[in-house]
Amino acid sequence: MSQGEGAVGIYEKWDFAEEMELEKQEQRKAPKGASSPERAVVLLYVLLALAFVLFMALTIVNLQRVSAAWEALEQAQMRSENSHTTAWHNLSEVQHTLDKQLSGELKAIHSRLLNVSQEVENMRWKMTQCKAECGKELSDRLRVLEERDAPEPVLRQLAEVKQEQSRASALLDTVLEEMRNLSEILCTRCPAGWQQFAKACYFFSTTTKPWLAAKDSCANFNAHLAVVNDEQENKFLANRIMENRVFWLGLTDMHKEGNWQWVDGRSLSLSFWNSGEPNNVGHQGEDCATIYSNGRWNDATCSNAEAWICERSC
Ligand code: CA
Ligand code: CA
Ligand code: CA
Repeated sequence: MSQGEGAVGIYEKWDFAEEMELEKQEQRKAPKGASSPERAVVLLYVLLALAFVLFMALTIVNLQRVSAAWEALEQAQMRSENSHTTAWHNLSEVQHTLDKQLSGELKAIHSRLLNVSQEVENMRWKMTQCKAECGKELSDRLRVLEERDAPEPVLRQLAEVKQEQSRASALLDTVLEEMRNLSEILCTRCPAGWQQFAKACYFFSTTTKPWLAAKDSCANFNAHLAVVNDEQENKFLANRIMENRVFWLGLTDMHKEGNWQWVDGRSLSLSFWNSGEPNNVGHQGEDCATIYSNGRWNDATCSNAEAWICERSC
């Protein structure tokens, strides 16, 4: 080794010793307990792990709480459903029992109403007949007495009797009107095979007959051929007629051509004639009215066989 190289080696050893000394001094200067970077990182990891464990523990506890709450909610829901089902079942039973009781009572009331209604209708019918027949008989007797050139006192008595008859007739009209109103109030159900509209029952025949025979047929049921009183009734009848079918109405001009009258004695005030009708065509003429499914009317030959509609108060 040269003298120069030996000097460099000495300097390097001296630098190394100095660095070691400085490091020791730095370590002595540093406060006690301070960590090295590695230790800080380790500490950080430990803290993170602790935080993670804590987080997981809290999460598990919360999950358990949520699960318990969910279970409680499901149980409450189930209890609610059960009680709802039980309540519904009880309600259905009560309703069923009430329905049975009411149905029996309603049937009995309905049956009694029908009987009363029938009795009122029969009585009205008899009184109407009696009014016409008895009134005619009395008028005939009075006329005979008048024609016999009776003395003055007898004629005075006759005049009084006539006045009484007139008053009795007016009273009977009022009673009949009241009975008709009562009959309408009691209207609850039409006979089997008849259809109800407003306060009347209607029968649509499935066979055909000439107009007069159809009129008699209705009379047998204590009814008359249908009399159209308003547009709603006409619509009701039309709606129940199948297409291409024709039915007799209770409307005729057989007593005087062109003077159309309903079978209940009313004159025609509201009409639904088809275009060009009534035209009274043919050598027999056309004196009886029919109704089509579109609600329009036609005059036809009364001897034709057609279906018919009866109407009666229910
Ligand atoms: Ca009518
Ligand atoms: Ca005619
Ligand atoms: Ca015609």
